[in-house]
Amino acid sequence: MPQDIKEVLLSEEQIEARCEELGQQIDQDYAGNAPLLVGLLKGSVPFMAELMKHIHLPITIDFMDVSSYVGTQSSGDVRINKDLDYSIVGMDILLVEDIIDTGHTLSKVRTLLYNKGAKSVKIVSLLDKPERRVVDIQGDYVGFTIPNAFVVGYGLDYEQKYRNLPFIGILKEEVYQ
Ligand code: 5GP
Repeated sequence: MPQDIKEVLLSEEQIEARCEELGQQIDQDYAGNAPLLVGLLKGSVPFMAELMKHIHLPITIDFMDVSSYVGTQSSGDVRINKDLDYSIVGMDILLVEDIIDTGHTLSKVRTLLYNKGAKSVKIVSLLDKPERRVVDIQGDYVGFTIPNAFVVGYGLDYEQKYRNLPFIGILKEEVYQ
C-alpha cells in the first residue's frame, strides 16, 4: 500500500505534534466547559482518536455518518446514515472532520446541529484545501492547510482504501488509471 504513494505530505510525527497543539488551544478556549466532540464517519476517526488524547477537559464524544448530495441544484440535502446517540440541546459542539474541501458537508452538518439545539458549533479539521472552497465556511481549528491535491491516509480514503496509512500522502497517478 505505501508503494501506491507518490509523496508523503505529512508524517505521523507531524500530525501528532499538531494534534497536541490543537488540544492545548481547545483546552484554553473551552476551559471550564465540557464540549461534545462529534466526528464525521469514517474519515475523522484516526484524527479524532489522536486529538482527544490531547484535550484534558471532561469531553464526551459521538459520531455521525452523512452523505452529502453536492451535485444537486439545491445542494441543500444531507442524508443521515447514522445520527447522534443523544440530545445535543444546549451543548457546545466541536465538529471533527478529516478535510474541508468545497465546504458543503460541514456547512450542512453545522446547520443540522444548530437545528438540533446546539448552543455553539465550532469546526475542527485535520486538513484544509482552501483553493477548492465553494461554500463560505472556515475551520475554527485547522491542522494543516494543503495544496489542491487528492490525498489519502490518516482516515482519508480512495475507494475506501488507504484510511489506515499512518501518514497523509498523495497517490500515484497509475492507481487511478
Ligand atoms: P466537502 O463537502 O468539503 O467538499 O468534502 C469533504 C469530504 O470530501 C471529506 O470528508 C472527504 O471525504 C472528501 N475529500 C475531499 N478532498 C479529499 C481528498 O483530497 N482526499 C480524500 N481521500 N477525500 C477528500
